[in-house]
Amino acid sequence: MAQNRKQKTVSQRRRKAVRKVECTNCGATARVVRGSYDFAESGLKRVRLQGIELIVCDQCGNVDPIIPRVNDLMRLLAIAVIAKPYRLAGDEIRFLRKYLRMTGDEFGRLLHINRTNLSKWENDEDRVGAQSDRLVRAIALSLGDGLRGKLEEVIRKFPEIRDEPAAMRIDMDTEKMSYQYVEGA
Ligand SMILES: [Zn+2]
Repeated sequence: MAQNRKQKTVSQRRRKAVRKVECTNCGATARVVRGSYDFAESGLKRVRLQGIELIVCDQCGNVDPIIPRVNDLMRLLAIAVIAKPYRLAGDEIRFLRKYLRMTGDEFGRLLHINRTNLSKWENDEDRVGAQSDRLVRAIALSLGDGLRGKLEEVIRKFPEIRDEPAAMRIDMDTEKMSYQYVEGA
């Protein structure tokens, strides 16, 4: 509760030019700056939030992002993962399973694979097959919160998916609520 109230206060103050906020780690007075943030909390290895407000503590070095409209952001991120033009990586499969709020058993049953094999995909110990990759995407689009409207558009682009995995970052603009893929990042 106290946590919620604090977050609300932070967002209410968003538009003011100069703000004093408290570091969530050490309680010292921290600064708010605009910058980019590697969104590791998403569970994805390569997602960067651009132009986001950050609470930076000079005392302890802690950096907290102020994430606006987190549900919209997570939905857009799910779409960005599902529509990516390369084979899904393990962390992306895990992200989509969690977006569906499913256990490994539940998701595995839909895919007709056992939990151990799913775990190998999620941990990049085994590579997901091309058809399973498309099935994961189709299931996520069909069952994921707020994704079904994208079903046709994304599935029609399935032929453009390249089967090799590729190092690629997803950059999210949190103000415009848009994303782009950054190849080779
Ligand atoms: Zn601090």
